[in-house]
Amino acid sequence: MKPLSLYIHVPFCRSKCAYCDFASFPGREGEWGRYFEALWGEMEGWRDELSDREVATVFFGGGTPTLVDAGYIEETLARARRIWPFAPDAEITLEGNPGTLTPQKLAVYGRAGVNRLSMGAQSFDDGLLQSLGRIHTAAQIGEAVRMARGAGFSNINLDLMYALPGQTMAQWRDTLEAALGLGVPHISAYSLIVEEGTPMAARVARGEAVVPDDDAVNALQREAVSRLAAAGLARYEISNYARPGFECRHNLVYWNRGDYLGLGCAAHSLVDGTRFSNPATLDGYLSGARRLDQQRLTAADAMEETLMLSTRTTRGLDLAAWSAAFGAPFERGREAALAKLAAGGFIEISDGFLRLTPRGMQVQDAVVLELMEADE
Ligand code: SF4
Repeated sequence: MKPLSLYIHVPFCRSKCAYCDFASFPGREGEWGRYFEALWGEMEGWRDELSDREVATVFFGGGTPTLVDAGYIEETLARARRIWPFAPDAEITLEGNPGTLTPQKLAVYGRAGVNRLSMGAQSFDDGLLQSLGRIHTAAQIGEAVRMARGAGFSNINLDLMYALPGQTMAQWRDTLEAALGLGVPHISAYSLIVEEGTPMAARVARGEAVVPDDDAVNALQREAVSRLAAAGLARYEISNYARPGFECRHNLVYWNRGDYLGLGCAAHSLVDGTRFSNPATLDGYLSGARRLDQQRLTAADAMEETLMLSTRTTRGLDLAAWSAAFGAPFERGREAALAKLAAGGFIEISDGFLRLTPRGMQVQDAVVLELMEADE
């Protein structure tokens, strides 16, 4: 059977963080039931079309999936298992926030088959957490990790953020140490992006918040790479670090362009070479609209995506797989660009893979653009 990954969006949060432009809608507690009914209906609608599939990974993202009653998560997984067989080693991740977990909820998640928890920690500095509008304190992150361990979860990720307004290198080091001190096997470290229309963007525009310049951001990123590597968490993607065997298999499906079905509001899908998405707003989704912006990918689209996504990973672009998929060696027509990027220390080619160096990863978009344009 062909593998399928499921992404399930839970668009509810207790309050909106200052930097957030994700599809998350605080204050809509009264619609949890209606939302999950709609989501279960959407899932059921795929039964016939995707009957030849086995579920390899599931990812509940948000929003804050740990905010809603755990019974919704359990029921969603039970219904999915009635539609598709699950691989015996299926990875089932639940995203959530410290401050919303309880031992009771964790027991339900475990019973339902969730075997990986991904927690939005962001920082271990209470002042920075407050300025980000997070609902939890640094102490609650540790409590949540200990509670999760107590409930039998060992595969735990912490999301951290750097390049925050006012964040010093010392604060970032302290956050890395605190996260490592909790002994989690996976850490995601993201640079803050100030998204238009958010309260954070307004603060930056008014001059009340100042984001670090590129050099400072690069220094913070380098600190994460070296400190996490020293602790045994190797970088395997631009923003992701794991002990061997704890890489997030669901996210690897995205970077390897495997098939995934996104269910719920704002969820995106790639199934059999077609991309599509659901309405970005809760009301749009509840109105019943589905499978918007369908795009059947051309060979050129697939090439661009393959290059863009594979070079995010430290495994890199598989040159033999490229030739087999697209009928010509990747290097053909790109010789000069490859030589220039290699001489500049942005890429390296070895063992049949093209990889970005740490320097190249800092400017991944530009490197990819140069390689794409070299072929035109
Ligand atoms: S918890 Fe996540 S999804 Fe919810 S408001 Fe904050 S950043 Fe957005």
